Amino acid sequence: MADGGKTNVEAETSGNLTDGFHLLIDALKLNDVETIYGVPGIPITDFGRMAQAAGLRVLSFRHEQNAGNAAAIAGFLTKKPGICLTVSAPGFLNGLTALAHATTNCWPMILISGSSEREIVDLMQGDYEEMDQLAIAKPLCKAAYRILHAQDIGIGVARAIRAAVSGRPGGVYLDIPGNLLGQVMDEVEGAKSLVKVIDAAPAQIPAPDAVDRAIDVIKSAKKPLIILGKGAAYAQADDAVRAFVETSGIPYLPMSMAKGLLPDTHDLSAGPARSLVLKESDVVIMVGARLNWLLSHGKGKQWGEPGSTKFVQIDIEPREMDSNVEIAAPLVGDIGSVLTALTDAMGKNFPKAPTEWVDAVKAKKDANIAKMAPTLQNNASPMNYAGALGALRTIIKERPDAILVNEGANTLDFARSIIDMYKPRKRLDVGTWGVMGVGMGSAIAAAVETGLPVLAVEGDSAFGFSGMEVETICRYNLPVCIVVFNNNGIYRGTDVNTNGTDDPATTVFVENSRYDQMMAAFGGVGVQAENPDELARAVNAAMDSGKPTLINAIIDPKAGKESGNIGSLNPVSVVSKK
Ligand code: ADP
Ligand code: MG
Repeated sequence: MADGGKTNVEAETSGNLTDGFHLLIDALKLNDVETIYGVPGIPITDFGRMAQAAGLRVLSFRHEQNAGNAAAIAGFLTKKPGICLTVSAPGFLNGLTALAHATTNCWPMILISGSSEREIVDLMQGDYEEMDQLAIAKPLCKAAYRILHAQDIGIGVARAIRAAVSGRPGGVYLDIPGNLLGQVMDEVEGAKSLVKVIDAAPAQIPAPDAVDRAIDVIKSAKKPLIILGKGAAYAQADDAVRAFVETSGIPYLPMSMAKGLLPDTHDLSAGPARSLVLKESDVVIMVGARLNWLLSHGKGKQWGEPGSTKFVQIDIEPREMDSNVEIAAPLVGDIGSVLTALTDAMGKNFPKAPTEWVDAVKAKKDANIAKMAPTLQNNASPMNYAGALGALRTIIKERPDAILVNEGANTLDFARSIIDMYKPRKRLDVGTWGVMGVGMGSAIAAAVETGLPVLAVEGDSAFGFSGMEVETICRYNLPVCIVVFNNNGIYRGTDVNTNGTDDPATTVFVENSRYDQMMAAFGGVGVQAENPDELARAVNAAMDSGKPTLINAIIDPKAGKESGNIGSLNPVSVVSKK
């Protein structure tokens, strides 16, 4: 040690002090965290200021749930944990919805919340915003940690990061009692206590016999199908996905957030022949997708004759196997490693998927596309979904780099099938829960993380959950164009209260609302569009200018249906109907 003759103790302490604020910022920066999404307040106000001063980008939202949803989607887009920062109890609870959402979707996120004094909280003596946050967070996320001592900040942050991104990614809660931030320690010792996470999400290579087993199953197929899920999009193994699909020649079905992994116009895309391929396929290769409600749990009449489908499943989480049906060939590992192993094992002489089957899928797909095409051209006013989305479809085709955010009921279901995607991770939507309220958080994070223009296609109800964030979009001058599909209500805008009271029906909103004026109120551009031509003009202008824009798109209140495509999940009473 070149310490000029000092004793060890003297050499390792500098006489200068650091504190919890600085250590937490340094620990995040050391691990390449660049952005924090949050809402300031007690006890983390000064932390946010100092983080900004230290070169982190700190984006302040109007509500923690939206900041959390931004962090969650940042995790999906970057493979790094999205960071959400909140105040104690109520702010923490607001952020928790997003943390649970991230966990459910297998996206890495860390919710960092300030908390009140442990000694008082644990004796339930009634502190300001008293809450045992750690205990509450635990069942709702992948891991939860609390840091009590400044010298543990390095380890605490490292654990949180590794827990969020390794294996199946998910949400992590990190509890920061307010008095931790003020704790001081020697600066040199503090620096030494920080931990850089090495190889946070190690490659997970499948076992060779598992690969052989899968190859045998795939070889036996007469009607094979690949299902690409958002885990495959998350994995950023885009070349391996393409190589596997094209080497095998097997038709593929993208789940909604996997759209664009290969362009929806790819010859082997079976998106528009979804019913046919689910029903008829005999071997299905699941790539980062789960057999949950979105795929009828892999059974039932959607899947054809009982027992007629064999599954190969690629997933990083071993416990996902057999979750709903038997998996004939489980492949546990990361998407990139597993697909590369499969493609290598297939080699050059592997027989392509049977032509008869591939042609049948293509014929069905072409017929469905031809059937839909004329409806997308209509210029009706007020607009129906096909007309409005037909216009937006052309815009995404012309601007394939733009990121599409999409939520709503009918607005979601129609947009998913009508708007083709051309590049990976460009479609951000409601995810596994089918949750409403992720729109503005997703739009903001998409713009911040990628710098690309964002088009947010929102049902009027869905928009309402996070609509106040238009101020945030204006404040940071983000290139976000929001299109509100305004049909005066939830599902449809035509419901009438027939119960003899003065209140409006439970599913309608103020008629002819001007959502565009909300954006104008904060200095952005607000436009009303009554037909698809006007809509296309306004969106193109927004995308060219990059200015925050909200377009109030007038949709026929009669056009939608109750609960969109999932009406069967909505119980309806027959007894109470008079
Ligand atoms: P979708 O809704 O598109 O079907 P899901 O969210 O249901 O997708 O499934 C995603 C799956 O991908 C999860 O089971 C998750 O464990 C898995 N996964 C996430 N990241 C990876 C990865 N890097 N490698 C392999 N599997 C992954
Ligand atoms: Mg509506």
